[in-house]
Amino acid sequence: MRVSFMPQGSVREDLPRIQLQGLQWTVSHCYENSPFYRSLLDAAGVKPDRVRSLEDLKRLPFTTAQDLKEGYPFPLCAVPHEKIVRIHASSGTTGKRKVLAYTQKDVNDWADMFARCYEMAGLTRTDRVQIAVGYGLWTAGVGFQLGCERFGAMAIPVGPANVEIHCQMLQDMESTVFCSTASMALLMAEEIERRGLRKDIRLEKVIMGAERHSRRMRERIREITGVEHIFDIPGLTELYGPGTGLECVHHEGSHYWADYYILEILDPDTLEPVPPGEIGEMVVTTLRKEAAPLIRYRTRDLTRLLPDPCPCGNPFPRHDHLLGRSDDMFIFRAVNIYPGQIDHVLSQVPGMGSEYQVHLSRREDGRDVMLIKVERLWEDAPDRDRALAEMIASEIRRQILVRAQVEILEYGVLPRTERKSKRVFDHRPMQD
Ligand code: ZN
Repeated sequence: MRVSFMPQGSVREDLPRIQLQGLQWTVSHCYENSPFYRSLLDAAGVKPDRVRSLEDLKRLPFTTAQDLKEGYPFPLCAVPHEKIVRIHASSGTTGKRKVLAYTQKDVNDWADMFARCYEMAGLTRTDRVQIAVGYGLWTAGVGFQLGCERFGAMAIPVGPANVEIHCQMLQDMESTVFCSTASMALLMAEEIERRGLRKDIRLEKVIMGAERHSRRMRERIREITGVEHIFDIPGLTELYGPGTGLECVHHEGSHYWADYYILEILDPDTLEPVPPGEIGEMVVTTLRKEAAPLIRYRTRDLTRLLPDPCPCGNPFPRHDHLLGRSDDMFIFRAVNIYPGQIDHVLSQVPGMGSEYQVHLSRREDGRDVMLIKVERLWEDAPDRDRALAEMIASEIRRQILVRAQVEILEYGVLPRTERKSKRVFDHRPMQD
């Protein structure tokens, strides 16, 4: 028997009604049950009965990571504590962690959404899913496992262990799906190549989350491992965790589960919607979340909507890959640059590896200089390095409209980590 986690009926026709009902429920629920939200909504002059159409979303106030910090340890909480069955937290780089609470219904909804992801990735119940992301307070490990069990495939919860154990499980358990960060997937792919394991494993798909990565990096992983598909999975602790959407087999952005949340793409400065297809900040409003609902939560993640229908036929809307954080955006000679734009340029140049660093510094005459260090894929001659460096510099100039120096490095010299890699190093003196 084939069970589907996609909604019944016509999503395109039903979505506006589902979203309006969810929005009305969320605003009433927040107003009735959360002192934080009640005062926020009162301050914005919005009573729940004022929400009559989806257009009224614009009247609602924003929430931010700061609200999560201030509400520690149970921020945004809109249910009595006895209804909370679990918490998760993401690491705060500064100060307190962001803690999010879940009711049993929240956990169930998350499992259903995640099962839908596995379904869209084309898994069946005979698949074996090796989970290489972190467990514990993180949403990652538990999320991948919860969704896998709800879907009915076999979970192999290895966690972020060393490559030795992963290689062994890939062989012995005959895992067909590998779930990890992009850096970890690359590390594993290189290890599989080094040990000559490709013929001994049965890997078909990789699901990568929690980290922005370039097309070049994916191609490299695909090339070495021979997997059929690599899927990007968006995930945010505040919004359940990973599994709120997934790429389809066309790999042009992620379909997202718009029956669970509304996604707005706004200009991070003006907080007005950007024109369809332009880059802006993802702002999310949940439609069913009980314990820690979100109203217009500013994620700081940058992406754009992909307004055209997807060739795969899935009716859920799509957003592009994450193009960085609005916090990671840096200003270089008066141009706003997102690291994702540099990824994009590098991924178009043949022969380049997926690892790179951007170094920003200031010369004595006060001019800012950008140096991009990037690894070449193969051993090569110095002449060819010069040509490659020039090609990259001219593409950066053409596409991002700034001048950069480019240094080509030998393959493997930049640091690899199992967690997120730091790409941008700003050595410029702080502004007064
Ligand atoms: Zn699609």
